[in-house]
Amino acid sequence: MATDLRGVAGYFERLLAERSQGEIEQDLTPSLEDMPPSLPRGGAPGTISARAVKRRWRLLDVEASVRDRLLDDIARRQMPLYARNIENFIGTVKLPVGLAGPLRMRGLFAGGDYYVPLATTEAALVASYTRGAQAITQAGGCTAAAIWEGVTRAPVFAFDSLIDVGKFIMWAGEHAQTFRDIAASTTRHGELLRTRFNMEGNHVYLIFEYSTGDASGQNMVTIATDAVCRFILDRTPVRPAYWFVEGNHSGDKKASHLSFQNVRGRKVTAEVTLTPDILERRLKTSARRMLDFYRVSAIGGVMSGNIGLQGHYANGMAALYIACGQDAACVAESAVGVTRFEAAANGGLYASVTLPNLILGTVGGGTGLPSQSACLDILRLSGPGNAAALAEVCAALVLAGELSISAALAAGHFTRAHRTLARGVPEERKKGPSEDPA
Ligand code: NAP
Repeated sequence: MATDLRGVAGYFERLLAERSQGEIEQDLTPSLEDMPPSLPRGGAPGTISARAVKRRWRLLDVEASVRDRLLDDIARRQMPLYARNIENFIGTVKLPVGLAGPLRMRGLFAGGDYYVPLATTEAALVASYTRGAQAITQAGGCTAAAIWEGVTRAPVFAFDSLIDVGKFIMWAGEHAQTFRDIAASTTRHGELLRTRFNMEGNHVYLIFEYSTGDASGQNMVTIATDAVCRFILDRTPVRPAYWFVEGNHSGDKKASHLSFQNVRGRKVTAEVTLTPDILERRLKTSARRMLDFYRVSAIGGVMSGNIGLQGHYANGMAALYIACGQDAACVAESAVGVTRFEAAANGGLYASVTLPNLILGTVGGGTGLPSQSACLDILRLSGPGNAAALAEVCAALVLAGELSISAALAAGHFTRAHRTLARGVPEERKKGPSEDPA
């Protein structure tokens, strides 16, 4: 990131107003003085020791009221349930959960009406998704299809020469079935679907793609891939100089261009067609305004170098992921996709979202935790057999959000909604020109 030199002068001026250059240099110099105590450990792996929790709080040396806000009676009682999800436990953070909906689903896997729990501290978010969900429901529901799945792990092997790379790839090609068998021996629900490779000089990335049942599957694919790699190291006729179980070529937890070449997690596409009446009454806008906004925001997105084409998938998705025990960091890769608005017959609007990267599950990870499993229960999507349906609900929710935010911007209500809901500024206190250019 390049920085404007003119801005730097002002930045240093502000810094030096409070501290001398010598003091700043001292503050920035690494120091081994008065090293802090290590965090108290305790209990066997996969357990939480109440004694160790107490010692951690003692170490923090904060008022009891601070501790009680994180470690209340419920958190104390439920402590053992978190043992496989957290290290150095000190308590739980509470987030407000709101319902968005009703959201009618007409999916391959999700059918019926859903009230979607969203955990967020962002005012206006639940209201906005509710508005979009209601518009979709009024239109008869969101047609959705979870169409493909696959979770990748991409170990990398570094060889001395291209000749060794060639020998290795030839050998690996002959052992594809063995790789599948070894992966199968590590998991009951995961399956190694295919193995591809990519070369860069004398480095080889093997790209293992798995189905992972109803789990989001990152642990599953890591364990299976590690077992395959151990076999490779044991048997390959050409030993790599070094290797790593992941070479950053799987797209794990980051938005990447891989999204549009492969599926990662579940690929879902969802659509709805809104009538002019729904657009006008529910979303306070028209197809024409929505399409004008879609066009300029698509151009803005291209000029910004966005991956994909969308407004704010991460908003509702993060709230759904947190509520339902998903790995929130996976929003970084899951919130990639394409939104499309088109004119429909008689002044209506066709809208679709396609998300090729939904990493989520209904078993494993945080899905069994007390409040997270309750949120999945509200959706009637806890446990085995439900991951594809959850992916479709997630895509439909994202579609609701795309419709609602676009309508708010198209109608000029975007700022007003946030000001009223987040700041609590009543309508009558607002001054200034109307934001609605229509
Ligand atoms: P997991 O909780 O580690 O594994 C899922 C477990 O559920 C497996 O033991 C699986 O058994 C079992 N299971 C039971 N019924 C199942 C069904 N119907 N479908 C699928 N599995 C079923 O969860 P994970 O999904 O593999 O991993 C997700 C976690 O990994 C997240 O919490 C995430 O934060 C974390 N993560 C790990 C890495 C990593 O590289 N290790 C990277 C990012 C995130 P079987 O295996 O015998 O089928």
